[in-house]
Amino acid sequence: MTTATGTNPHSTSNSDHAALAGKFNKDELRVDWHDKTLWFIRKKRDKAAWQIPEWEELREIASQIKNNVLSNLRTYLLEFEEKAQKNGITVHWASDAEEHNKIVYDILSRAGINKVVKSKSMLTEECHLNEYLATKGVEVIDTDLGERIVQLAGEPPSHIVLPCIHWKKEEIGQLFSEHLGTPEGNSDPQFLTAAARIHLRQHFMSSKLAITGVNFAVAETGEFVVCTNEGNADLGVQLADIHIACMGIEKIIPKRKHLGVFLRLLARSATGQPITTYSSHFRRPRKGQTMHIVLVDNGRSERLGSPDFRSALKCIRCGACMNTCPVYRRSGGHSYHYAIAGPIGAILAPGLDMKKHADLPFASTLCGSCTNVCPVKIDIHDQLYRWRQVLTQNGHVGFLKQSGIKGMAAVLSSYKIYQFAGSAGRWLLKYLPFSVNNRFNAWYKQREMPKAPDQSFGDWYKGNRKKKVEKIEN
Ligand code: SF4
Repeated sequence: MTTATGTNPHSTSNSDHAALAGKFNKDELRVDWHDKTLWFIRKKRDKAAWQIPEWEELREIASQIKNNVLSNLRTYLLEFEEKAQKNGITVHWASDAEEHNKIVYDILSRAGINKVVKSKSMLTEECHLNEYLATKGVEVIDTDLGERIVQLAGEPPSHIVLPCIHWKKEEIGQLFSEHLGTPEGNSDPQFLTAAARIHLRQHFMSSKLAITGVNFAVAETGEFVVCTNEGNADLGVQLADIHIACMGIEKIIPKRKHLGVFLRLLARSATGQPITTYSSHFRRPRKGQTMHIVLVDNGRSERLGSPDFRSALKCIRCGACMNTCPVYRRSGGHSYHYAIAGPIGAILAPGLDMKKHADLPFASTLCGSCTNVCPVKIDIHDQLYRWRQVLTQNGHVGFLKQSGIKGMAAVLSSYKIYQFAGSAGRWLLKYLPFSVNNRFNAWYKQREMPKAPDQSFGDWYKGNRKKKVEKIEN
């Protein structure tokens, strides 16, 4: 089984989506319930959305607010900084992940702290904060239950809202038995949750510093909001002497009144709940506490300057695009080999490192379902398509795929070649089927190849149309 530092059945060792998806697909039962569970959440999202007559209006307003934020990001960030400082919060700026990690560590080391509790923050995953702090001898305890499970298993989250959605309860039972000393064979979710609560409470009580993410930061007031379903962010912060909040610069919203729009959209899109259980506002440190906020760029400014891809910065990390994506549901989050998986991860990751993440925009059917559910109306599938073009133009697509695309372009742009290729394909399927049905053909691996028809649709149409015309004339 798994260990906090060792190997586990879900570990990812390379960075090729198709290969990692193939690994996930070996366990067919897991793939099936992973698919069904996420589709169940997608349906819950639909029901929650339909209960609000003004849902589409809300999406449009949220999209417009975010467009405004992106066009005036500097102004809102500076306004937020000024108000937050007036509230007694220390504001830090980090240009990249490395600087972010150093700022966090400096605060820790100045206070002589070597253990922290941390609630869910995709930004800290993006910056690999846990790994960095581990090299400095700092113990980080992730306090979101799903995150703690994957942390004990020594792996990253596979979903931004449901970090351990790929784990079965029996596997969690065994993991807890190994790490928390629960009785072997007990996989009752209620029992395991109670065991996790006792385990985490000890860490909450003994930690002097709490790290949280930020869902929304309000420029007008200098406050920020953290949404959780478990209350773990609140407990960590209320018991700690120091609170560090880590935030991507795109999380800013202009006014407090805008929170109503986003909070209504976020929980419904994420899990189908009317509201996240805890939407906690942090405005100033309580007496005796110090509060820091780290505003992180890490490639966001560059994205802002790219008209084709800047709207990806509107994301509020609800995960709806993952739950609906037929590729994500059947390939698992780790196949994306980036902190943020699914369709949104596939358009964010190449912006950070085109070469490393060149495979991700191709991990999509371009069905557009992600765009349809996105609460802030990001044109996700258009960006996936656009990234494919950019990656190809920049030479990040393999020779075989490039040649295939060029070959297909030649076939589809000439009627004669198209006709010839069709006849050749039908002939091969009929007389030499093994030339297509072999293990080197990735398409064939999981599909039955069709029986070759006797004629093309074009030939059939010509013949039948002629007969029909003759019949009408007679
Ligand atoms: S891209 Fe849209 S649907 Fe996907 S996580 Fe972000 S806000 Fe949610």
